[in-house]
Amino acid sequence: MRVLTLALAMTALMTSQALAAPKWAIVVHGGAGVIERSQLTPEQEAAYRAAMTRATEAGAKVLEAGGGAMDAIEATIHLLEDDPLFNAGRGAVFTAEGRNELDAAMMDGRTLKAGAVAGVTRTRHPISLARAVMEKSPHVMLIGAGADAFSKAEGLEQVDPGYFFTERRWKSLENFARANNLPVPARPAGAKTPDSAEGLAHDEGKHGTVGVVALDSQGNVAAGTSTGGVTGKRWGRVGDSPIIGAGTYASNASCAVSATGTGEYFIRLTVARDICALVELKGLSLQAAADEVVQKKLTALGGDGGVIAVAPDGQIAWSYNTSGMYRASMAEGRPLSVGIYKDEP
Ligand code: ASP
Repeated sequence: MRVLTLALAMTALMTSQALAAPKWAIVVHGGAGVIERSQLTPEQEAAYRAAMTRATEAGAKVLEAGGGAMDAIEATIHLLEDDPLFNAGRGAVFTAEGRNELDAAMMDGRTLKAGAVAGVTRTRHPISLARAVMEKSPHVMLIGAGADAFSKAEGLEQVDPGYFFTERRWKSLENFARANNLPVPARPAGAKTPDSAEGLAHDEGKHGTVGVVALDSQGNVAAGTSTGGVTGKRWGRVGDSPIIGAGTYASNASCAVSATGTGEYFIRLTVARDICALVELKGLSLQAAADEVVQKKLTALGGDGGVIAVAPDGQIAWSYNTSGMYRASMAEGRPLSVGIYKDEP
């Protein structure tokens, strides 16, 4: 009898723990696009899963130790920016002129402070530059040469533009140029050949941006996004990733969101803020809000891509209308989950 009572008590305890809202949580994306089982070799799939696992676990470690959401996001995105598999930092896509112009943003849901950069060319970790804009300048967004100069002045790690070069992204640009009757630019000086990601990397279309949202044990949410934008971009084109409210948004009053996809649609729909507004003003669950904006509004407008989201009460969500999205999540008391294709949880 006593054994039975003990067993029942333990089951009740375990159930309540499983249902309790996690104190911390992290969700990561590595881009959305045409990603289907038939297109990835087992080696390619394993490489992406390993990269997503390593990055997510690095962020979770910060949160588990009581660290802040902003620190967890920065640590996670550093790994993804350094990884040539993703379209952020090293591995970024090329502009029509054969350059890498990087965009990034961070937002702190506790203070509603935000920092963003667009078209930067020499900072190894654009996400840290976005954070520096937020914390060390009176501004929210810096672009181009000015942002590069601020980065240097702040002592952030500088690299030669050739550092960002990958053979795979160069081939994508050559294909883009030919398909659009544009001249194929000369290979950039200092371009490395070939890189470790060659053969492992899958051409997921034009995407591959990285983003992270996190909830820390103090109850604060934050969001960060880093990207090279889209292959063959011209005329100083800037996508949604560094636009606060479009590709990146965070507020403790509702949620934190990071997006990936064809940025023009995400800007027009202010996707990230719209999701948070549905949570805050209409009381929708995080998943319902993300689905409303991605599956209904984005799809109706002809846009493609997806989002990841987290709320201060521990809800996590993702939603995408492409065939795949590199994604992962982890939370207090919940194991790591990594997914690529649509039929995975
Ligand atoms: N959203 C990014 C942009 O439009 C691209 C991406 O997510 O792949 O710049």
